[in-house]
Amino acid sequence: MSLATLVKPAAQPAAARRRNIADLLAPLNRLAATSPNLVVNHDARFEQGEESFELPRYLFVGPRGGDTPIRIGIFAGIHGDEPEGVYALIQFIQMLEARPELATGYYLSFYPVCNPTGFEDNTRHSRRGRDLNREFWRNSAEPEVRLLEAELQSRSFQGIISLHTDDTSDGFYGFVRGATLTRHLIEPALAAAEKFLPRNTLPVIDGFPARRGVISDCYEGVLSAPPKIRPRPFELILETPAAPPEYLKQCAFVAALQTILVEYQKFIAYAPNL
Ligand SMILES: [Zn+2]
Repeated sequence: MSLATLVKPAAQPAAARRRNIADLLAPLNRLAATSPNLVVNHDARFEQGEESFELPRYLFVGPRGGDTPIRIGIFAGIHGDEPEGVYALIQFIQMLEARPELATGYYLSFYPVCNPTGFEDNTRHSRRGRDLNREFWRNSAEPEVRLLEAELQSRSFQGIISLHTDDTSDGFYGFVRGATLTRHLIEPALAAAEKFLPRNTLPVIDGFPARRGVISDCYEGVLSAPPKIRPRPFELILETPAAPPEYLKQCAFVAALQTILVEYQKFIAYAPNL
C-alpha cells in the first residue's frame, strides 16, 4: 500500500458541493428557445456577496380559451432545502410543453427557484440567514422577497400556488387562504395527490388545526397576494411529506397542479351563472 492511498482526499471547497441551478434549469431553457408557448425571463437578478443571482421566471402561455387568459402564479423552492417542489415544477412545465392543451385559457407564471442561494446550499434559509417565507409584505429588505413582491404586485394573479415539503408529516396536505372558492380547489387537489401519497388526516398539522388535510390558518409573512388586493385570488400552499421516493412526490405535486387548473377552469365557466 502506497502512502498516497492512505492520504484522505482534501475536503471539497463549499462551492463544489453546491447544487447547480444552471444545470437544473438547462432543460427548460432549451425548451423555451424553440417553444411557441414557453418564455423564459432572465431579468430578475440580485447580488449576494461577490456573486450575481437570477430569480428564474418562466411564462407558459396556454392555447386560447374563450375569455381573457387566467393568470396563475406557481412558486417553489422558497425554502432551499425543499427541492421536491422545484423538481415537480420543472416536470410540470415539461408536461405542459408536451401537452399544451392542459393549459388552455391560462397564462401560467412559474417561479421554480424562489430562494436561489438556499437552493444552492441546501438550506431552508437564504445565504443571508433569512427564512424568506416570513418576510412578505413586511417591508423586507431581502432582494428575493422584493423581486417576488414586485411580481405579485404587477401580475395581478387570480391564483397563487406554493409548493413545500414538510419533513415532520407522513402525508400530503395543504393550506388555504384568500378567495372562498379556494376550499373547492384544495379537496380535488388533495384527492389527486392521494393517488400517489397518503393524505395527512391528523386533527393538528404543523401546530394548526386541520380537517382532512386542509389548514385554514397560516404563518404571517408567507408568500401571498398583496394585502390590499381585491378581489382576493385563491391561495394554496401544498405540502408533500419528505420521506417518500422522489418520483412519488413529484407525481403527487404534478397531479395536484393539473387538477387545480381543471377545477378552476370549471369554476370560471360556471361563475357567471352563480
Ligand atoms: Zn417550506
